This record gives sequence, structure tokens and C-alpha cells, in this order.
Amino acid sequence: MKIELPAYAAAIINRLEAAGHEAYVVGGCVRDAVLGRTPKDWDVCTSALPEQVIACFADERVVPTGAAHGTVTVILDKQPVEVTTYRVDGSYSDSRHPDSVRFTPRIQEDLARRDFTVNAMAYHPRRGLVDPFGGRQDLKECRIRCVGEPTKRFEEDALRILRGARFASVLGFVIDPPTLQAMNGLAGRLCHVSTERIWTEWSQLVCGKRAGGVLSALEPVCAAALPGWPLPRVPQAFAALDRLPPLPGVRLAALYAGFAGTEQAMRDLRAPKKIIAQVALLAAEAAMPVPDNMPDVRKLVFRCGRENSEQVLAIMTAFEQNAQRARQLLDECQENHLCCDLANLAISGRHVARLVQDPQQTGALLEKLLMAVMEEQVPNEKGPLIALAKQWTA
Ligand code: ATP
Ligand code: MG
Repeated sequence: MKIELPAYAAAIINRLEAAGHEAYVVGGCVRDAVLGRTPKDWDVCTSALPEQVIACFADERVVPTGAAHGTVTVILDKQPVEVTTYRVDGSYSDSRHPDSVRFTPRIQEDLARRDFTVNAMAYHPRRGLVDPFGGRQDLKECRIRCVGEPTKRFEEDALRILRGARFASVLGFVIDPPTLQAMNGLAGRLCHVSTERIWTEWSQLVCGKRAGGVLSALEPVCAAALPGWPLPRVPQAFAALDRLPPLPGVRLAALYAGFAGTEQAMRDLRAPKKIIAQVALLAAEAAMPVPDNMPDVRKLVFRCGRENSEQVLAIMTAFEQNAQRARQLLDECQENHLCCDLANLAISGRHVARLVQDPQQTGALLEKLLMAVMEEQVPNEKGPLIALAKQWTA
């Protein structure tokens, strides 16, 4: 097993070793490198105590990110690397954080505190892979499995339930049955996880390549973590997920399609504002009948805009509704530059202002004219539009 380390990570290991300490790259970067994926960042674990790490890199930029928990960030070649002292976590009384941590000189003990076997491997350029829990085999067999006894590990930290689901979804893995059973059994503990963390995990989880499969095996977890559960059309929604582009707004809309409380549910999840609005819009539109004529397609574009209209049709298709005709009409609408909004209407407020008694009625009149254009009752031309407006206001 050979992993190519970036020069800055190798340099950190070499420097710590030259000072008489042990050091390895560890965790997510080893998992991703073994899978042939590009690691997001390279973390290092070491036998050196935080103050010894700081002393080793006295001439570099070092940030004591979480020195109490053993982590300092070393910035080498402008690349930040988290260097964490081997540690053992103490007891957990809040279902989320260890009450204390203790440093240890043994890497095996550090790997044992990690959540999943695939995340509990370390690698050294000369010593090779340290894999005491069979992480490499689990990677080969595409399996997420707890290090140690699953129930105990989720009782310690409930966030691991969502992390496990997220890794399975993103990597396209299955969850080992005892791990899965403990996740569902302890789903109630998710109340100890902050909404921000739930959102971070959830937004990645729904975009994974096996999101539907993972979620359908984790209904109690969904119920505990997602506001508004149980939702309508859930089994179809799970199947629909994996057929959609990996965008949280679109995938969540499929999950919440037709659910009246969608907007509030997204607020409760503390989703970003843009996503709240998108999910609420798409979830409502996707539950409507598939548009099958040009006026209805144009009205869809009016309500949602071009891009979101495409997503609405994608969700309908993912729910196995036939939206092929609607797609053709949408393309035609685009190619022929058909007017679907006030900005492209051949007249503006200025042209009709004198026809209405109250200037506040201008907007409503324009919108009514736009509807008439979209319904092909009048061409989008100045003369006919003004004539129609006059007829209506006479
Ligand atoms: P990602 O690709 O999302 O960064 P990661 O595995 O690197 O995945 P991090 O949150 O960066 O995840 O954590 C780094 C490592 O720390 C993990 O691989 C795992 O070994 C350990 N770890 C992180 N969070 C936990 C946790 N809640 N419980 C136990 N170990 C954890
Ligand atoms: Mg990471």
C-alpha cells in the first residue's frame, strides 16, 4: 500500500520524527487516498504533545486551534495541517463531547477513539498503513462499520449517527447491520446535536450517490433529524433522490414534495436563506400536475424562473411522471424567446399608468396582461396590449 503524500504533509512528519516523535497522516485523508479520491485536507497525528509540536515548528506559522484537545494547526507552504496528539477520550455525559481527553504515546489507542473503521487508519511513508480495525477491508467491501461496540459509540457522541449515514451515502457504501441497528435504535439522541451540525451533515447526506438507499434504511434517524417527518410520498421520494442532480435544494425538495410545512421545516433546519426559498418553491411546484401545454409551461417559468422550472421537471421525472412533453415545451419556450415575465412584456407600467385610477393597480394590470400573453390571447406587442388594457379598464 503506497500513498503519495503532498510535500508539506511529508515535511511535517519528517520534522516531528527528527525531533524524536512519531507521526502519521490519519483519518479522512487516508480513507480517501486508499479509495483513489482526492483528500480534502491532510491531518497528522503524533506522539508529540501540543507544546512539543509548537516547539518543532517555532519558525513556521502555528495556530493553537484546539490545544486543550491536542490539536495545533501548522501552516507549511501556505497549507494548513491539523496536527493532533494521540489521545484517548474520557467519559461522555452530554451525548456529544468527551468530558476530558488524555494524551497517550500509543497510536492504537488514538485510532480506537475514532468513529468508523474506514476513518481509523493511519499511514506513514516508510512504515505503511496502520489499520487495527480492518478499515481497508471495509473500504474494499464498501462498508461503514463502527470501531468497537456501535451502541456505545453512538451513546458517546450522537453526531456519529449522521456522520455514518453521510459517509455511506457519499461513498455509496452499505452500513454494517449492527451499526445500522444502533443508529436507528439511538436516533432519539440526535436531540443532543446542534441544528447547525445536523444541517451540515444532512445537506451532504442527501447529495450522496446512495442517499435514497441509505435514508430508506434509516427512517427512525430521518424522523429524529428532519422537521416535519413523516412526510407524504416518502418511499417514492427515497427512490427519486438518487435520480436527481446532487444539489441540496433540489434533493430536499424531492423529499418534501407536496408537504405544506416545507418552508418552516427548512427554517427549523437552519438551512441557508436561498435554500429555504428554493426548497419551498420546488416542493410546492413538484406536487402540481405536470404541465402539458405551452401556457402552463410559461406560467411555470413565470413562477419559478427558467432554471428552477427545469428542476421542477427533473423532480417530476424522478417521481416517474412523464415530463418529456413539458421539457420539449420548455426548450421551445427558450428557443423562441417567449415572454414569461414582466421584464419581457412589450409594455411597461408607464404605458398603462393613465388607464388605472390608483397607481397601485398598475402592477396587477400588467400581470393580467402577461397572463393573457402567456395564454396566447394577445400577441406580445405594444398596440394590441394597450388596446386590451383599455378594453379592460373602460
Ligand atoms: P471529511 O471528508 O468530511 O473531512 P473526515 O473523516 O476527514 O471526513 P473530519 O471531521 O475531518 O472527517 O475528522 C477527521 C477524523 O477525525 C475522522 O476521519 C475520524 O477519524 C475522526 N473523527 C471526526 N469526528 C469524529 C467523531 N465525532 N467521533 C469520532 N471520531 C471522529
Ligand atoms: Mg477531514
